[in-house]
Amino acid sequence: MTIRRIVADSSLSDLTLANEAAARYDLPVERRTKEELLAELLPLPPEELFPAAKATLFFTEKKGPFLTSCRCPSGADYRCCGYHTIQSVSGCPFDCSYCILQHLIGNNPFISIFVNRESVETEIRKHLESHRHLRVGTGEMADSLALDALLDESRFFAAMIVRNGWEDRISFEFKTKSAVVDNLIAAKEQYPAADLVLGLSVNIDRFHATDERHTAPMADRIAAAIRFQRAGGRVALHFDPMVMRDEFLDDYRALADRLLTALEPQKIAWISMGGLRHSLSLSALMRRRWPASELTLCEMFPTADDHKLRILAPIRARFYRAIAETIRKHISEPPLYICMEKDFMWECAGITPFRWDR
Ligand code: SF4
Repeated sequence: MTIRRIVADSSLSDLTLANEAAARYDLPVERRTKEELLAELLPLPPEELFPAAKATLFFTEKKGPFLTSCRCPSGADYRCCGYHTIQSVSGCPFDCSYCILQHLIGNNPFISIFVNRESVETEIRKHLESHRHLRVGTGEMADSLALDALLDESRFFAAMIVRNGWEDRISFEFKTKSAVVDNLIAAKEQYPAADLVLGLSVNIDRFHATDERHTAPMADRIAAAIRFQRAGGRVALHFDPMVMRDEFLDDYRALADRLLTALEPQKIAWISMGGLRHSLSLSALMRRRWPASELTLCEMFPTADDHKLRILAPIRARFYRAIAETIRKHISEPPLYICMEKDFMWECAGITPFRWDR
């Protein structure tokens, strides 16, 4: 992962973060409008466009809200876990074959960093006027910690929580495929009462080299999680996307055993599972960009409500049930949920809803 361009929106007056990035990467700060930057990048063929865009940091202001509820398809009987997201960054220097962000390449291919992140505080305060607890994270449109050495969002949000006395009302997750936890550990040590959660995205080793370019190997992610737990933090685990082919089931069971043996079960905040799922158009892009990926070899079927391709329901249920059973060997009542699945799947998988607020 290499950052090769630092660009500040032409209309931006606060260049503090852009200048810090320029100093860190020993690069100049270029001034462009978003449209000018798009006009430079979009004519490139995909083989050049993705690497160039993922190496470009674009500092700008966010016009809309930062805090939104997670995007479970509405209008269908998907069971929502109530998660919220903060979009302080959009884009990621890592490159995963299944990443939904590949779809944004026409409109927002680079890594947009929204410098007016202070306004999140007002949005959270308003949310807490009508909700007792907020379970929130920054990892929906970005990897939460990939750029944390530069942005130090871990300390930024921890300080915000403590400044407002929200320690018992917010569980704040940093979801990552990196092993970049130095700032997060420092934030936990400085603000021990803040409920900071390191959300570890996990998968079986065979996909690391082929489908999760530039991310940390699983062993490094686990080592980082152990360090964070020792500093007093809680860790969440996300088995997502699980590639549900029969020959991989034992590998996923072994992964669950490996994680829950290495980590302290009482400091596990929550565990999610999700099957591989994506749109039909992403399949075409995956085949083009990732010809060696085994993920495109799965037999998948469209779902009526959100038109995503999924692995057949009985196979998903079998995987969820098997991994949940493995997890229960380590934690009798695990804080477990499955992502973007309907009621019937929760029932088939034998998973009961969990109460999130501590
Ligand atoms: S780490 Fe997450 S956000 Fe980054 S490329 Fe992979 S799936 Fe996308």
